[in-house]
Amino acid sequence: MNIHEYQGKELLRRYGVAVLDGHVASTPEEAEAAARKLPGPVYVVKSQIHAGGRGAGRFKEDPNGKGGVRVVKTVEDAKAAAAAMLGKTLVTKQTGETGRVVSRVYVEAGCHIARELYLGLLVDRATSRVTVMASTEGGMEIEEVAADHPEKILRVAVDPASGISGFHARKLAFGLGLKGGQVSAFTKFVTALYRAFTELDCAIVEINPLVVTGAGEVVALDAKVSFDDNALFRHKDLEALRDDGEMDPKELDAVRHDLNYVALDGEIGCMVNGAGLAMATMDIIKLYGSSPANFLDVGGTADAARVTEAFRIITSDANVKAILVNIFGGIAKCDMIASGIVAASKNLHLQVPLVVRLEGTNVELGKKILAESGLSIIPAENLADAAEKAVRAVKGAA
Ligand code: ADP
Ligand code: MG
Repeated sequence: MNIHEYQGKELLRRYGVAVLDGHVASTPEEAEAAARKLPGPVYVVKSQIHAGGRGAGRFKEDPNGKGGVRVVKTVEDAKAAAAAMLGKTLVTKQTGETGRVVSRVYVEAGCHIARELYLGLLVDRATSRVTVMASTEGGMEIEEVAADHPEKILRVAVDPASGISGFHARKLAFGLGLKGGQVSAFTKFVTALYRAFTELDCAIVEINPLVVTGAGEVVALDAKVSFDDNALFRHKDLEALRDDGEMDPKELDAVRHDLNYVALDGEIGCMVNGAGLAMATMDIIKLYGSSPANFLDVGGTADAARVTEAFRIITSDANVKAILVNIFGGIAKCDMIASGIVAASKNLHLQVPLVVRLEGTNVELGKKILAESGLSIIPAENLADAAEKAVRAVKGAA
């Protein structure tokens, strides 16, 4: 789960991570009042969306105007900047063409930047450790740095048993070229950040840029905080930070029904059980010349209720021209799944071609139920056959 910059900074502040003063606002008037609470004389008005690249982004309503992060010198200008952002659609490298509507801005104290660095914490699956990444190339996307100048990324893996120590911090600080008091400021910063990361069960915390100010302080200018969904049950208070407005409505719908759904931009809706099967199904659809409209994993219990919800979500996407069901009946037996598919198709008066491939326990009975349902379900023998028939159904519909 991702949260906004202002929420991330608020959390990090509690752990003693150095951030600047700021206030969130959802109207231009609130933005002006927020600026008045800050010392000035420089304020920064920042669009709050779940995507980076805001500074270099552009608003759809004003493509030649300024970006989603603006530095201003008066409280009136802070109000004007907020008015130019709120309710507008910000398009950045990370949002894609559709962009995101800005419904809140963060009004933050302006900062005199001497150096922009990069600091990121993530769980490295290969080493099963939290890895701290740092780079002198702050402000740039770390993926680009990794591709063009991998030698400029410093990495330190932290043993979970002993936690972060002065040694880790100094190694990074010296690698970043920090001097004197900056080293101890950085040590304090990264130690507090590591504590926040582990105690909040984060998946990623990215501070880009981490800045050294003119006064030699080390401060987080941006904060991307993402939590491990599997640990959210331990943090009921964090659930409240979820911004439903940032999610694809179909994905939100799926979360509510405990289905794993990822919206994609193709034309074949896929209903599968298990992520591996989903990957294979998407690959083979591509191989046969079409592309998946989604990734929907119904999980272990493919009963009528869940299949109905799954079909409803899939068909609410207007791009879906056919549905491919690819289910392996193990614990949930094929006959039960087939009954679920038949009931769901009838409930929803399914209009698009439906290709079904079942395999596993009671498969013959399952196929019989589908064949005798009176519905025009297209049965498939295997994965290749299923993909070929689904693609043909789509091409036929076009
Ligand atoms: P994004 O990564 O989405 O573009 P950032 O928060 O990183 O957004 O802001 C973009 C740039 O704006 C930063 O790299 C920094 O140069 C500048 N900036 C952001 N916040 C401040 C601030 N409080 N004071 C001065 N400059 C800022
Ligand atoms: Mg940034």
